[in-house]
Parts: sequence; C-alpha cells; structure tokens
Amino acid sequence: MSNLNLIVVGGGLVGLATAYQYLQTNPDSTLIVIEKESAVGLHQSGRNSGVLHSGVYYAPGSKKATMSIAGKAMMEKFMAEEGLAYELCGKVIVAKTESEIPALEKIYANGSNNGVGCEMIGREQLLEIEPHVNGVQAIHVPTAGIADYPAVAERLAQKIIGMGSRVLLGTTVLGIDERPGEAVVQTDKGDFTAERVVACAGLHSDRVAKMTAPEKVSAQIVPFRGEYYQLKPHATHLCNGLIYPVPDPRFPFLGVHFTKMIEGGVDCGPNAVLALAREGYDWKTFNRQDLFESLGYSGFRRLAFKYWKFGLGEMWRSFSKRAFVTALQGLIPEITAADLEPHPAGVRAQALTPDGEMVYDFDFVSSKRVLHVVNAPSPAATVSLKIGQHIVQQLESELAI
Ligand SMILES: Cc1cc2nc3c(=O)[nH]c(=O)nc-3n(C[C@H](O)[C@H](O)[C@H](O)COP(=O)(O)OP(=O)(O)OC[C@H]3O[C@@H](n4cnc5c(N)ncnc54)[C@H](O)[C@@H]3O)c2cc1C
Repeated sequence: MSNLNLIVVGGGLVGLATAYQYLQTNPDSTLIVIEKESAVGLHQSGRNSGVLHSGVYYAPGSKKATMSIAGKAMMEKFMAEEGLAYELCGKVIVAKTESEIPALEKIYANGSNNGVGCEMIGREQLLEIEPHVNGVQAIHVPTAGIADYPAVAERLAQKIIGMGSRVLLGTTVLGIDERPGEAVVQTDKGDFTAERVVACAGLHSDRVAKMTAPEKVSAQIVPFRGEYYQLKPHATHLCNGLIYPVPDPRFPFLGVHFTKMIEGGVDCGPNAVLALAREGYDWKTFNRQDLFESLGYSGFRRLAFKYWKFGLGEMWRSFSKRAFVTALQGLIPEITAADLEPHPAGVRAQALTPDGEMVYDFDFVSSKRVLHVVNAPSPAATVSLKIGQHIVQQLESELAI
C-alpha cells in the first residue's frame, strides 16, 4: 500500500517545478523529492547562464517552441509573486558579417512564428542598444531577461515543504521497482513507495530511465562542459544586456555569448567540451565509468568523427585563454585577456542518439508507474514550471493506475 502519492527523483528545477505543480493541482496529496546532493539545484539548474529565454530560436511545432512563451511567463509570475530578483534586460542576436544574415533571418522567422516579440534591427540601432558590439544586423528581443535560478530552486523547495511534503537531501536513488498499484524507489537510505514516480535526473536521466524502461531509452547522456569567463568590474560597461552570436545551426549550443548576471557582473561563454565525468566541472574531475561510457558510445564516436574540427576548436578555447578571447572579440572587438577572469563552469546533459544526432527537443518516456524526463536541455530552466505542468497533465491522462 503506497503511503505517498508521488515521488520525484531529482531536486533540480524540473523536478522541483514538477513537485510544486503537482501539489498545486492536488493540494491534499503528499510527495517527496529525492535529491542525492546536500542542497537542491547544485547541477545544471544552479550552474547555467541565468537567462530567461524568450523562445526565439526554436523550430515551430517543437515542444521547446510551444512551451517557451507560456513557460517564461509562468517563471516571471512566480519570481514576481515570491519577490525573487529578475530583470528583462533584453537581448541582441548579432550577425557579425553579411554571410550570417540568412541564418539570422531564419531565427527571426522562427521567433515570429513562435509569437515572440522581436525586431530585426540594423547596425545603427544595434549600437544604440549595445555600443561596443561589432555587427551588421541583429535581432532585438526586448523581453529576454535574466534570473536567479538557484534562488528559484531554493524557493520551490521551501514551497513544497510548506505544502506538507518533503525534500529529502543526501539520498541517492539506486533502483525503481514497479509493482501492481505502486512503485518502490530504492535508495541508499531505504525504500520509499508511492503511487507514481517522476524522474528528473538531469545528467543521470538515461541511467534512471533504464531502471524501469530500458527498451524505450534510445539516447545516452554525454556530458558537455560549458566553461565561462567573467568580465572584471572595470570592463562590465562593455555589455548592457545579453549579446549572442548567430548560432551554428548544426549544434544545439548557442555559441559563446555575453550575459549580464542578476547578481551583478557579466559572464562570457560557454564553450562546449567533453566532460571527463557527468559532474566534471573541470579537467581534473574524472570518473572512469562516465568517461568509458562516453568514449565507448557509438553516438559520441560518430559525432566526434563528423565534427572533429569543431570539437578541437572548443578544446583549444578551453586550454587557451587567448583563443577564448579571440572568439569573444568577434562580438566585442575591444575585449582583451586582461578584462577576463575565470568563472565556474556548468555541464550540459546532452542526449545523443546511437547515430550521433544531438537530441534537440524535450523528451519524456513512461513505463507503467514512472514518467522519466529523458531530455531537458536549455531553455528547461526558464520553462521548468511549464514542463512541470505538462508532466502533471501527462500523469493524469497517460499513466495506468
Ligand atoms: C552551461 C549551461 C548553461 C545553460 N543556460 C541556460 C539558460 O541560460 N537558461 C535556461 O533556461 N536554461 C539553461 N540551461 C539549461 C538548464 O540549466 C537545464 O535545462 C535545467 O536546469 C535542467 O534541470 P533538471 O532539473 O532537468 O536537471 P538538474 O538541474 O541537473 O537536476 C537533476 C538533479 O537530479 C539529481 N539526481 C540525479 N540522479 C539522481 C539519483 N540517482 N538520485 C537522486 N538524485 C539524483 C541531481 O543531483 C540533480 O540535482 C543551461 C545549462 C547549462 C549546463
């Protein structure tokens, strides 16, 4: 007999937002969020660019596109009601040369289709918004912004506890057993039973999904570290808001950009290099199993073979500050190495198919009593409350009781 209605695995923004939305819809229910770390939001949710994405990039019809506008609005409403800091500082996506204009126009078409308020602007207008930027044309997205995601994660956890449920920290999920009428979640602190389970395990999502639905998990998570520098205080005047390049359409990464941070300062990055551990935030952190799984995976080998030149460039930018600076100078030519200091990195959970394709969209897999979030890349922080709402609706409509 289940004593809990729901167990959520993972105390990142997606897991916490799911638990929060479940309690909003089912206020008399009890649930626990199980998180292996000593605090919530310590991985992707607390180590990202801190951007409130507006939905301008995403292919029309994708889950990212359909969730973006509502998801961002929900996040803004939550932060406003909770008195959490955020700012709609605006963003420019900059074509540095004429040759980048067709790709810029494609993004603009996507943004317009997705209903994002954005405008194509010329060089003169771009310089009024960002006077130090080098560009021939840009998309201006005035509603893009910045947020304090660690504070959002912490507040969601407080709200969940305030609604009579629990957030269990320092507890690792080791297995999930589906039985008639219930699911048993085995952890290093004992077993927990609930009617349903939602797993939002980020960098470990494929491993947790294989606990109940191995036949449905076709992609593997390969960890890609994104490294950042920060502008030193004397140089922060070089960036007023969010300055992005036109991304390479072959990759789901947005390219090194400048991001005004809500706590002050400006971040520059991230690049994308293979992390030597799923939670490997520097070159010194190495996990044999994680690395063997990445290097031995056909999907990674195919990707590396196809894009070895791009990969080497990203690695080179990791080891050479000068190369990183050169990439940044493409957007702001007057930046020098003396303007930059290192800033903590993040690791993206990149789902890769066995063919080496990077899974672009949000993805969910369910077994009888468990719904797994198997891919929640950017902008999943921005739209976490919408993803949570979507999952709660899925639980109501799809899972067998
Ligand atoms: C470098 C970088 C920059 C980004 N920039 C942005 C941005 O500007 N805006 C934006 O919207 N998005 C951004 N993103 C994406 C966004 O951060 C993620 O999509 C989002 O945080 C995913 O949340 P999550 O809850 O799925 O994963 P996570 O935050 O990684 O949470 C998963 C949690 O599950 C826990 N867990 C895993 N396995 C177990 C287990 N077995 N037992 C117990 N607990 C477990 C982990 O400890 C972790 O806390 C960025 C991501 C990165 C890496």
